[in-house]
Amino acid sequence: MTPLAETFMLSAGERLGFDVVAKIFRMGYSRIPIYEVSKSNIIGLLFRQGSHFLDPEDEIPVKNFVQIFGRGLHVVWADDHLGDVLKLLKRGSHMALVRDVNSGDGNEDPFYEIKGILTLEDIIEVILGDDIIDE
Ligand code: ADP
Repeated sequence: MTPLAETFMLSAGERLGFDVVAKIFRMGYSRIPIYEVSKSNIIGLLFRQGSHFLDPEDEIPVKNFVQIFGRGLHVVWADDHLGDVLKLLKRGSHMALVRDVNSGDGNEDPFYEIKGILTLEDIIEVILGDDIIDE
């Protein structure tokens, strides 16, 4: 899993102008989670591939460009079995959000929290027991 703090995400409120589009290509990730209000509230994915057709001068809001939930963004539990997650990811999107329980400091009720993202590559690395070097 890649922890949420290390995940390259964009806010739904941002606009796809020159700076943001340049950053998308600089970062190089194929899938970029889009959040609204807080980073643990992911509402969809932006695919870098689709952003080739963007004209940065149009400054389109990220929200208009996002592929909303239901189109392949899966949520899995931190203790789900690898084989089950692999089966899920093979069916589409190739990225899942990892959810776990946050027990807090004992003064509040436990709540569910998105801890990070997971792709097919992360699973394959676990199976191989080694890192895959991206080309
Ligand atoms: P990509 O196709 O974008 O290179 P991969 O599916 O090959 O992504 O995953 C490579 C690694 O990058 C994995 O460890 C995955 O968790 C991580 N990763 C994928 N997308 C992002 C992102 N938006 N921000 C940070 N890490 C990411």
